[in-house]
Order: sequence, then structure tokens, then C-alpha cells
Amino acid sequence: MIIQCDLQRSRGLVRPGVITLGVMLGFLLGAGLAQAGDTPPAARDAGGLPFWEIAVWNDFPVRLELEDNAAVAALLEKVPLASFSREQLTPGTSSAGTPLVVFTPRVTEAEAAALAAAGYRFTRLADGEKSGRQAMEEGWAHQGLKSGAEAWREAAGYYPTHAQIGSIFAQMENDHPDICRAFTWGQSVQGRELWGLVVSADPQNTAAEPEVRLSSSMHGNEPVGLVLLMNLADYLTANYQVAGFEDVTELVDNYEIHIMPLHNPDGYVAGTRENAHDVDLNRNFTEPAGTHPTVEIENTHFMDYANGQHFVISENMHGGALVVNYPWDYTFTLNPDDAALIPLSLEYSTRNLPMYYGAFPQGITNGAAWYVTTGCLQDWSYEVTGCIDVTIEVGNLKTPPAGDLDGYWDDNRESLLAFVKAARNGINGVVTDASTGTPLDATITVSGNIKPVTTDPGHGDYYKLLPTGTYDLVFEAAGHVTRTVTGVTTTWGTPTVLDVALEAEASAVPGRPQGGLRLAAAPNPFNPRTTFYLTSPRAGRATLDVFDLQGRRVVRLVEGYLSEGVLEVNWDGTAAGGQEVGAGVYFARLTSADDQALVKVVLVK
Ligand code: ZN
Repeated sequence: MIIQCDLQRSRGLVRPGVITLGVMLGFLLGAGLAQAGDTPPAARDAGGLPFWEIAVWNDFPVRLELEDNAAVAALLEKVPLASFSREQLTPGTSSAGTPLVVFTPRVTEAEAAALAAAGYRFTRLADGEKSGRQAMEEGWAHQGLKSGAEAWREAAGYYPTHAQIGSIFAQMENDHPDICRAFTWGQSVQGRELWGLVVSADPQNTAAEPEVRLSSSMHGNEPVGLVLLMNLADYLTANYQVAGFEDVTELVDNYEIHIMPLHNPDGYVAGTRENAHDVDLNRNFTEPAGTHPTVEIENTHFMDYANGQHFVISENMHGGALVVNYPWDYTFTLNPDDAALIPLSLEYSTRNLPMYYGAFPQGITNGAAWYVTTGCLQDWSYEVTGCIDVTIEVGNLKTPPAGDLDGYWDDNRESLLAFVKAARNGINGVVTDASTGTPLDATITVSGNIKPVTTDPGHGDYYKLLPTGTYDLVFEAAGHVTRTVTGVTTTWGTPTVLDVALEAEASAVPGRPQGGLRLAAAPNPFNPRTTFYLTSPRAGRATLDVFDLQGRRVVRLVEGYLSEGVLEVNWDGTAAGGQEVGAGVYFARLTSADDQALVKVVLVK
């Protein structure tokens, strides 16, 4: 069995070290013999923090069958379940062949009694999460004290302690300084480092290449993705320029991969979904519909890091389900890039057979269609940074036995490589000044798509993920003549390269108000709808937003390219999430690169 495990690993990983039978036997026997109560007290790291804590269990899994998501919402209305999250919902089919939702929440004894009292029938399930976590704790008790790099080389398939992640990355940087750079993107509530590793032939970011973010485990009790990303870091660095691994060399040479495997180290140490403030970090991001007055420190650091880079696509890994979930999560309105999000998600799921043939059709789902959820990382990433982010649920069991991790790696390896590669799918290129060749800070808008992309100002490179089709693109940069390129064809999987040089605008003074933008509304006051009349003296990019009296944005009605002349835009008094807004005063603001126009409207009811 051990030899089998060893062979399996060597297929995926080329490791410089030798797997010693004695250490593995000791690890496996130790894990097998220890009882829950025998676990020695956790050691402490250099900062005095424990390597792990013994998780507390006061709930257990149950299984119910419900008609649909509305029935789930009705149940939660009657019996609020503290542990509820959407990965407890799986599409299923009744014995009569009708669709239903299989709901597997974790409940306390009191919640179980309340469910029964409310007339719900459920069955109690074996607790794979509890036994999986206890096995992790036992593994750490026997293996977790070794230095990370040493343990990583010796043990096939294990969960590293938080402290080991840092030393494993440091070792990788030490072994491969030309293609990776270890970094920390901040500290958690309890002061644990948030480790990261950039893998790229240009790890200091001086090339025009797409930046891809791979992160995991913002839910501390969902650690499989953490191990997958550590494996990926190892696989990319160990196999670079090795014959037979040309796909790895291509990715390392042409992409900049930011690996951030543990978003919530405090939760990982304690075995909890939430961070040390008991906050679910994936319900704590600002997004178009959300109001999160206090953003947790792990998320603040994550946002700062993301804002300082120019990520093109990204993913965040979770556990508890087996599916790629794409935006939006907060609304049923289709995302502006829905047509590209689907093939991007399929790049992942089609290479992960358990996922592709699992409960979700083709292993992918729209977030809101699964269950409307607010405050998620992926919606923030798309809305605020323009980086297309998906949420990858890598397994129905959040904490499988460590011995199963190699199998998960086999299921996810090709998916991860294909996902990174897809960052160039669609149309990409470099925007420069025509006379000097200087890279430009430019905005690129694609016909039929209201979400523009921008260049990475340092290098002038842009990437617009697009499904197979033919497009018109508008290139704009301050002080330059806008240029439209029509009829650009791209095929999914074969990136189209389109470099564009823009002529400097002789008379343009960057930042000088040009004037002439006008905005009117009629009827006003209105009920139930009004029309905004946007008058623009020149073609260019513009946004039209509606704000309430407190200055909060209610909805963005226009984001894209306006041609010269008058445009009519209707507003039916609904907010971004689709809900009707109350009677009162609202302000609409039309904003172009160099001008603004405002109109006050009154909704009467
Ligand atoms: Zn999760």
C-alpha cells in the first residue's frame, strides 16, 4: 500500500528528496494507533502561537430532501441553522424522478429537536468531518514538529501545519530562486503570517504577462485546496525545463502565478470555518449589493494585495461540494462576462472527472442559481478589480483522510494547469504610445460587453477573456486619440494577440475638463419608471450610476462606450440586486474620463 502511494506520487511530482519507508511507517502507524484523547499538546511556533488546536465538536451532519431553494429558505426561516452555507445544498432527484435539493446541514442537538418539532424528517449521517479533523490533529501530533521542507519531502499526502507552509515556500525559493519568490501578504487576527509564493520565470514582475491568483482555504476547515496549491507550487518549480513537462515550462515562462494557499490560518489551526473573530471571510467582502461595515483583517490584506497587482483571472478553493461556481453570487442578473465564465469554468471541470460527472451538470454552476449568497470574494474581485474570479469546491468531504490527498491532486492537477493557461484566452496584447513606444494606462471596451478591462500600466498589457466570436474593441488612454479596431476574431483556447499603438492627441491636456456632458430625466418625479437622457459631445467611455441621499450607489445603469449624441436609458426604480427601492430622492451621475453631469430624480409611491 505504501509503495502504491509512492508510485502514485512520483507520477505527479518529481521530488529531489527520498521518501523513506521508516518515516512513513512511523507516521501512518502513529496516526493509526493514537486515540483522540492521546493527542499531545500542540507545540508552539516562533511567535508563541500553537501549531494546532484540538477542534471542538458540538454539531453533527443530517440529511433532508427539500423541493427547491425556496423550501430551504422557508426551513431556515422556521429553524435558523447556525452552520448554514450553500455547499450543504446538492442537486438531486427523487425516486419519482423529479428534481430536488439534498440538504446536509450540521446541526446541534437543540437544532435537531427544533427541526423535528417543525415537522421535518431527516436522517443522521456519519460524521466524516469530525473523524477527518481528528486524523489531521493526530498526524500533526506525530509529524507536525518537523521543519516544513523536511516533512514535505518525506511524507506523501499530508496536511502541513501553518508554520510548515512558510518553511516549505522558503525552501522552494531557496532551491529555485530564478522562478519563485516567497512572500507574505499580511498577518491574521492572531498574528499568523499569510504566506504566498509567486511562480514565474520573471518572479519580480518586470514582464508583460498575465497575473493569475490561486488562493484557498478562507474557510479554515476546508484545507484540501491548501494542499493542492502546495503541490502545484512544488510541481511547477520542480518540473520547470524538465523534458516531458513542456506544459509546466510554458506556464512558468509566460504567466505570473501568485499562490496564496491559506487565507484563514487561525481557522485552519482551530478547525473552524470562521476566522478568530468568528466571521465567515467569504461573507465579508464588499460587493455590489453588500454592506459590510467591518471588513476582517485577512480580507483587508487580501484586498490590498489584489489592488496592488493586476490580476486577470483567479480562483479561491473551498471544500464541502464538488463544483466550479462562477459569478454572480449575489444576484440572478447574469454577469457581463457570463459567456466567458462558462468556458473558463469548464476548463477546470472537464479535466476533473469526479467533478464533471458529479451532482452538478458538467461540474459547474452559476453562484446565484446554486443559492444567492452575499459578501463573496468572487463578486468583489470582479466588481472592484476587474479580475474574473471563480470559487472551486474540490470535494464533498472538507477534511478527507491525508492518505486521500494524492488522489485529489491527481483529479485537480491538469485542471489547475488548464485554468492558469486560460488567462490568455480571448484577446490580449500591449497598448503603447505610437511615437515613443511607451506602455499606456489604457481602457479597452469590447462591443456588447459593459465591463471594460484596463492595461497593466507598467507594461501596457491587457487581457480580455472572450468566448469564440468576432468583436469590435475600443482603445482609450488619456491624452491619446481613441482607436476602434473592428472585426477581431478569437477562438476559445487559441488566444488572439492584438497590439495597439495610440497617437498622442496634440491639443489634449490630460485632466482638463472638456465640458459638454449633459444628463436629464423625464418624467420627474416618477413612478414606476423614468428615462435618463445622456448627451455626450464626443464618443468615449462613461458610467451612469444612481445614488441615494446617503451617497450609496444603488445601481450602475451604464458602464461602457458611449457614442456621440443622445442616449436614452430607462430606470425602473430597482437596485443592483433587483429589489425595488423606496420612495425618495436619488441622484444620477454620468461620468466620463474628463467630465461629470448630475441630475436629481424623485421616486413617488
Ligand atoms: Zn468554503
